[in-house]
Amino acid sequence: MKKSSICIIAILLCCWTALAAAERVFIDNTDIHEYKGRLGKWTMMGSSSALVQVAREFGSAPDEVYAINENPARKIGQGTYVFIPFSDSYLEKLSARGISRTPIESTDDQFIWPLEDVRNISSVLGLRGGRFHSGMDIPAQRGKPVCASMEGRVICSVYLAGFGNTIDVEHRNNFITRYSHLSANFVKKGDFVRKGQIVGLVGSTGISTGNHLHFEIRCNDIPLDPLDFLPANDGLKLLHTIKNWK
Ligand SMILES: [Zn+2]
Repeated sequence: MKKSSICIIAILLCCWTALAAAERVFIDNTDIHEYKGRLGKWTMMGSSSALVQVAREFGSAPDEVYAINENPARKIGQGTYVFIPFSDSYLEKLSARGISRTPIESTDDQFIWPLEDVRNISSVLGLRGGRFHSGMDIPAQRGKPVCASMEGRVICSVYLAGFGNTIDVEHRNNFITRYSHLSANFVKKGDFVRKGQIVGLVGSTGISTGNHLHFEIRCNDIPLDPLDFLPANDGLKLLHTIKNWK
């Protein structure tokens, strides 16, 4: 075989491998959420009777709702978020109305933005007022869905002093992502989350001056600059980066 033919085959093989590694990822939004492999919606409940009503609307049985939420006592506290799975026919209705999640192409080892349409970073990794700021702050409206930046296992879903409601997700190669100041945490320790799956809602819990997401990417527990890992975002406004900060 000619040398040039071998080269062409090698190039084609490389392209094919790169294409094969990219997978379609769906980003949860305000209408459709994923939890434990089911599509549905996290809904704030006032009572158990409200749950029965919403479950009926979304086409699922109350037993199914209590099971996926691991609530065998069937007790719903005031203001509790409950995941209500959608039936296939309800999903078809949503699809007929043009309601769906946004698909993106992403490779296995690529982190994605934890919020949709990020235009502005209010604070980046680095020294801030003499103290080390361990992540990036993304201003966003209260209640906006916060999605897992990479698939992984939830290792912590708690209220932390300073950070407020916080979720830590462990990924391959000793990476961890952190999501803080949330107004609601939807996943718990031990849950497996897919890339793009909602984990909570933007808020301002802990020490915070307004609604925003504090997002971290750590490797071996060392906070790294998330901008080095996230897909390029043209037109992103940020005050400074660690590279040119004085
Ligand atoms: Zn922060």
